[in-house]
Amino acid sequence: MDITIDPSVEAGYKELENTIKENTSIADTGRIRSAFEFAYAAHDGQKRKDGTPFITHPIAAAEIIAEMGLDEDSVIAALLHDTIEDTSVTHEAIEKRFGKDVAEIVEGVTKLTRVVYTSKEEEQMDNIRKMLMAMAKDIRVILIKIADRLHNMRTMEYQTEAKQREKALETMEIYAPIAYRLGMQKIKWEFEDLALIYLDPVGYREIRDGIANMGTANAEFIEFTTKRISERLREVGVNASVYGRVKHLYSIYRKMYGQNKLFSEVLDLYAFRVIVDDIADCYNVLGYIHEMYKPIPGHFKDYIGTPKSNMYQSLHTTVIGKNGIPFEVQIRTWEMHHTAEYGIAAHWKYKEGIQSKTTGEEKFAWVRRLLESQQDLDAQDFIQSLKFDMFADEVFVFTPRGDVINLPARSTPIDFAYNIHSAVGNSMTGAIVNGKMVSFNYILQNGDIVEVLTSKSSKGPSRDWLSIVASSEARNKIRQWLKRERREENIIYGKSGFDAEMKRAGIPMAKLSREDILPRILRKVGFPSLDDIYATIGYGGITAQKVVNKIADEVLRIEKERGKKDELQPPVAAKPTAPKKPIHGIVVEGLDNCLVKFSRCCTPVPGDSIIGFITRGYGVSVHRTDCANYQKSINDQQESGRWVGVSWADTDNEKYQTAIRINAENRDGLLMDVTTVLSALKVKICSISARDTGDGKASIYMTIAVGDRNELSTAMTKLSYISGVTDVVRSGGVENK
Ligand code: MN
Repeated sequence: MDITIDPSVEAGYKELENTIKENTSIADTGRIRSAFEFAYAAHDGQKRKDGTPFITHPIAAAEIIAEMGLDEDSVIAALLHDTIEDTSVTHEAIEKRFGKDVAEIVEGVTKLTRVVYTSKEEEQMDNIRKMLMAMAKDIRVILIKIADRLHNMRTMEYQTEAKQREKALETMEIYAPIAYRLGMQKIKWEFEDLALIYLDPVGYREIRDGIANMGTANAEFIEFTTKRISERLREVGVNASVYGRVKHLYSIYRKMYGQNKLFSEVLDLYAFRVIVDDIADCYNVLGYIHEMYKPIPGHFKDYIGTPKSNMYQSLHTTVIGKNGIPFEVQIRTWEMHHTAEYGIAAHWKYKEGIQSKTTGEEKFAWVRRLLESQQDLDAQDFIQSLKFDMFADEVFVFTPRGDVINLPARSTPIDFAYNIHSAVGNSMTGAIVNGKMVSFNYILQNGDIVEVLTSKSSKGPSRDWLSIVASSEARNKIRQWLKRERREENIIYGKSGFDAEMKRAGIPMAKLSREDILPRILRKVGFPSLDDIYATIGYGGITAQKVVNKIADEVLRIEKERGKKDELQPPVAAKPTAPKKPIHGIVVEGLDNCLVKFSRCCTPVPGDSIIGFITRGYGVSVHRTDCANYQKSINDQQESGRWVGVSWADTDNEKYQTAIRINAENRDGLLMDVTTVLSALKVKICSISARDTGDGKASIYMTIAVGDRNELSTAMTKLSYISGVTDVVRSGGVENK
């Protein structure tokens, strides 16, 4: 490429090359030079807010990536990270020149860059963090995004105040927690301190000036203490490096505001670090430190024996130093130190030889192991979002306003529309995803921006949609609409069933329509008109047989009153009518005191959307509306009329049995862990069986008794956290075949 490079930019690039030499195993920087020139040409003429050429930003981001010790493709992708977004460069052009991996990483970073956060609610923040992780199929995408954000935060002073606040908040709420999760302590601290400058400038200055006002006292204390510890360790023959520093600003800030203290009241401002060669020395050093200084009780923490969730390891102790000034000492090996500083990136930095041979999958396995070691519940959620195979069950997409909507996997724009509002779904005429028209059965992808087109003149949902949608929410809403809006169709369909049943019962239609009879009949069956009866039969709200039986009873009574007993034979004996009473917590529409039982195929529990099937002689069997059998049956002409509306009544603390399946890696103690989790939740196990499904996997089939859907989903979530468990599903639904 024939380009002249600005000398100051060239100097910046040379620095990058030096950083690469110091921190990575990249021997030949030829491809990196070529990426630099490529990016230079692409960004030619663009300037940053401070007036410097734009290219200084990708160079700086690449330098941060090189400091982390990442591989060549990562450095190249960092140099190119803004080209797709801000220049005419395309994915294809990058792929042609630098390969598929680089192009995909740049594309990934571009997608994350396009994420717009308008909502600041905590729930949304959590979704956004998860989504970012989900979108970044390659962990290097997240690391480059972190480097990009770090450099932007370092150079935020030239931005407008509004932009500063917005970016600072995102950094504090999203990027600092991600850096922490990935074990990148150094970057997490820098994110927090930089964000604090804009989030609470006054609080920030108070601490900064407070430290400055202490003058040389800090430096003297640090130097004195460092020297004393180093000398003592040398005397006893421990090979150690000792460093001291003032703690980072945000940690002091949190202490002040968390414990309501003035700056002058925060005493433990200092942290010292002793780095040694092996674990034995860590504990030795701890002994020497406690000999030299009085430890403060309750402040000793052994993160070597019990590492933190992000793999952090060290011994921590707080002791009283010269003049009664307390300080913290962290003792660790060099290996622990690198992990603490670079977290996940230490993998590249210190195992570099291996990395070029490992596939993406193996790299990922390492990330997974790291995150699986995180024990707390919060972290478990996070792992959930990182287990890509588990991602099968969720997809995160955006509204045009930037809110994140969480849908079941394989959701379509129809599911999205009904998630927004049933009125949006019902008047939907089309959908635009990422600016392009898509078909109704388009499968939504993580990060898609979805816009629904609606029209007042829309014909409404079609019956076909029922087989396209993935969420039961959408399915139910479509069904409701069909019931309500397809009245004409329902009346025609319902009337033919009604007529046939009347014929069977031997009641001539002419008799029914007599003026003195019809109003009484309608009052008796609780419908305003014959058409309403037909419509209800038509959508399956009640069966023709049921209505006709009631009508027959009433007709018989009327005839009796008139002394014409012999004209009609009752098809069934008249039953006393009782007030509607729930049986097993179920109210059946239009039916009282009937036998109610729960289907074995989908085992519904309170809270599930349900529907009843009038069996031949065995009462009403209750199914979930997402039950695979129901879905099949509803399209069957013979059977569809037998479905009847049912609903949950108050259930009086009854427990309901429901079947679930746990898929897991087979291992010793798996069943015990399952039972322990359930007994901790006080969930009764009614039956349990396990089966080895080969290749080291196992399925556990069990029936448990729960009060309702919430209780069930808590149990399922807790079960999914058990080590080795890949998924937990309910039996019988169409979504979990
Ligand atoms: Mn950037």
